Amino acid sequence: MREMRETSEMSREPRAASETAEHPVATLRLGHLYPDQLNVYGDRGNILTFQRRCAWRGIALEIAPVGGDDRLDPAAYDLLFIGGGQDREQEDIARDLRERKGPALRAAVEAGVPLLAVCGGYQLLARFYRPAEGPELQGAAIFDAWTIHPGKRVERCVGNVALRWRETTLIGFENPGGRTYLGAGAQPLGAVLAGFGNNGEDAREGCVVHNAYGTYLHGSLLPKNPHLADHLLALALARRYGVSAAARLLPPLDDTLEWQAHDAMLRRVGVSPTPARLPLSPHATT
Ligand code: GLN
Repeated sequence: MREMRETSEMSREPRAASETAEHPVATLRLGHLYPDQLNVYGDRGNILTFQRRCAWRGIALEIAPVGGDDRLDPAAYDLLFIGGGQDREQEDIARDLRERKGPALRAAVEAGVPLLAVCGGYQLLARFYRPAEGPELQGAAIFDAWTIHPGKRVERCVGNVALRWRETTLIGFENPGGRTYLGAGAQPLGAVLAGFGNNGEDAREGCVVHNAYGTYLHGSLLPKNPHLADHLLALALARRYGVSAAARLLPPLDDTLEWQAHDAMLRRVGVSPTPARLPLSPHATT
């Protein structure tokens, strides 16, 4: 059983769900894009992490599935998430993005809605994905990047990945067949310390534009990276309630276990943990 240093600031005791439901200190609306088609390697764990980290602060997180047939209202959500999936699923979703949701998703991101896109979702929110077989899939062109699958005979980029993200680290697992390349002005999420990253060539991983974060990191990503989860929640709260409210609404939690898991994975890939635990400021560039 976890030893809790009970302080008013770092309580871990989730407020009773009923109490949060009845008297939430704040409410956030999360749109989960294609939850049934894009959900591999534990991607749903990212939603659970957002949910728990909100509940531990008495914040109500309303989660709405936004499936293939649903319209997307760019103003309806404070946070968006899209997971990964196989080439087969990506073809259907590329069509839906082209015919239905692409413009609304771009509008939401341009309006600063925080978004986390993992692996196949990341590829489909970029300019295009050329799968191992079949037609090239036009993406939503949110990230200035493109992906080419070198063919089934070439090994996938499988394994644990450690990144330098600002003054700290991110850790996760990746397994894409595709290789992603960033456009000239595109900003990577982080620098690769261990693993393949976007393509196993340029030591960069992911892509960031406005408050949209694309990455290959599965695992799921957020349970072992509580600082990134809180960073995205802080962006969502700041947008809805103001920057000062965001700081007040997100008191630090006792993330001892999360950091133990994070550091254990870093050591496993031969990277020494950094003392810095938090990105210094929500709006600093990488
Ligand atoms: N199908 C894509 C690829 O192979 C994405 C895989 C995934 O999301 N895990 O690269």
